[in-house]
Amino acid sequence: MNILLTGGAGYIGSHTTIEFIEAGHGVVIVDNFANSNPLVLKRIEEICRQKIPFYNINVADVVKLDEVFYKHKIDAVIHFAGLKAVGESVKIPVKYYRNNIDSTLALLEIMEKHNVNKLIFSSSATVYGEINNIPYIETMPTGHCSNPYAWTKLFIEQILKDVAAVNQDFSVVLLRYFNPVGAHPSGKTGENPNGIPNNLFPYISQVAVGKLVELKIFGNDYPTKDGTGVRDYIHVTDLAKGHVAALEYAKRHKGAEAINLGTGIGCSVLEIVKTFEKANKIKIPYQIVGRRAGDLAEYYADVSKAALLLKWKTQKTLEDMCRDTWRWQMQNPNGYN
Ligand code: NAD
Ligand code: UDP
Repeated sequence: MNILLTGGAGYIGSHTTIEFIEAGHGVVIVDNFANSNPLVLKRIEEICRQKIPFYNINVADVVKLDEVFYKHKIDAVIHFAGLKAVGESVKIPVKYYRNNIDSTLALLEIMEKHNVNKLIFSSSATVYGEINNIPYIETMPTGHCSNPYAWTKLFIEQILKDVAAVNQDFSVVLLRYFNPVGAHPSGKTGENPNGIPNNLFPYISQVAVGKLVELKIFGNDYPTKDGTGVRDYIHVTDLAKGHVAALEYAKRHKGAEAINLGTGIGCSVLEIVKTFEKANKIKIPYQIVGRRAGDLAEYYADVSKAALLLKWKTQKTLEDMCRDTWRWQMQNPNGYN
């Protein structure tokens, strides 16, 4: 199949591009580099040993997007394009709603015009909000989101369900990612945050490489196994393969389906630090500080629906996640910059 990846130059999009090519599909990427670096395309081409058709456009630009659909016969779309910084979304909500929702609406209009009916959307565990017990199951209520970013995901899920309700040929999979981490095993592609990272894995790896002095662990008084926050970390390559499986599912299914992509295992911050140290034989200095505002104590996925419908489950271990993160960081101390 010929797959269009919006936001395919980003962290998850770049790794998913590689997995689609390895699975024998053709790919086309559109991205405006709002949060990515053109060098990633070269790296993907090195890994896959082929040229990738790429368009530097805003997905919300219907005229330019239309041209891409005329130029390439697209069979399915994987929609990653979106702004994703939670804290920033609280400060500039209009920009987040405008970018994430407009780009989705433009994409839907052009897909309909060109009779493209298969869509995989990057949703997030954050749609479960702050009210559910763990593990999170797809049948649980969504909402009570704590920031505009999360609301964009939930609103887009609703838009896509509405489209599926009227278009009997439409097949959409709403993939609810848990915590994607890690890098390609080659060390050529990985996460490339701007400035000081907000997320745990890039922060730890920048401490390991000496760019940051120590990790600050946000709270050790949560009601969790060791008091630190617990999340479901998933290797980005496993996550990427989940999209390939989701497309296979979309081929034989109609309607909208939300599916968790995680390992089903909750890991604490201290467990991550210890595993990173052991896997990479390196010391991570840390200090316990106060809780970060808005953090939940613990959540992880129920992954039975993904296993049942997608015939997919994760294969990489926490050690793999730590090793691959460190290899990427060592080989690219300044990311793609
Ligand atoms: P990313 O920022 O690395 O990738 C997103 C890509 O989309 C970037 O390359 C950016 O330049 C591009 N983009 C943004 N708006 C665009 C627009 N209007 N037109 C064209 N390109 C545009 O983020 P990521 O971590 O790869 O995440 C991919 C998707 O998965 C996002 O939708 C994100 O919200 C979602 N998601 C990510 C996580 C995570 O922890 N990384 C978790 C859950 C969901
Ligand atoms: N965390 C931390 N120090 C950091 C970054 C994160 O202790 O510098 C903790 C955070 O409190 C949470 C976990 O690590 O318990 C994962 O945080 P991240 O921001 O990576 O993911 P999210 O909170 O968005 O799930």
